[in-house]
Amino acid sequence: MHEMSLVEGLLQAVRGELRAYPGAHVRAVQVRLGKLCQVEPAILEFCYDASVHGTPLAGSHLEIQTVAATARCDACGTQFPVKEHWFECPHCHSTGARLLTGDEMLLTGIELENTRIDKLSAACSRNDTLSLSGLT
Ligand SMILES: [Zn+2]
Repeated sequence: MHEMSLVEGLLQAVRGELRAYPGAHVRAVQVRLGKLCQVEPAILEFCYDASVHGTPLAGSHLEIQTVAATARCDACGTQFPVKEHWFECPHCHSTGARLLTGDEMLLTGIELENTRIDKLSAACSRNDTLSLSGLT
C-alpha cells in the first residue's frame, strides 16, 4: 500500500528526531502533503493510527496540511498553479517549468508534551523514499 510505505518512512524520520528527546511523549506529528502525491489524507491518517498502535507513539495523531502544486517557468520565471502532472507556462507556454511544491510529503514538525520540534526538512518524494537533508 502506497500510504503505508509513506507512513513507515515518516515514522523512521520521527523516531530519528526523537532520539534527542528520550522519554518524550508525542502529541502530534505534522506533515505537509502535496496534492500531486495522490494520497488521500484520511487514508494516511488511518495508516498512521494503525502503525503507531502499540508503540510509544500510540495516542499521537497525524496533522496533515495539504498544499497545492505550483511550478516556476524556467524560461520566463512565471510562477503558476499546477492542476495535472503535465504543465505548461500560462505566460510563455514553455514546458520547461520546474515543480516548486506539490509532489512532496514533508515532516514539518513534531509536537511533544512540553515542546515542539519544528523546521524539519525530512522530505518524502514521489518514489516513496524518505530522505533527510539539512537537519541541524
Ligand atoms: Zn514562461
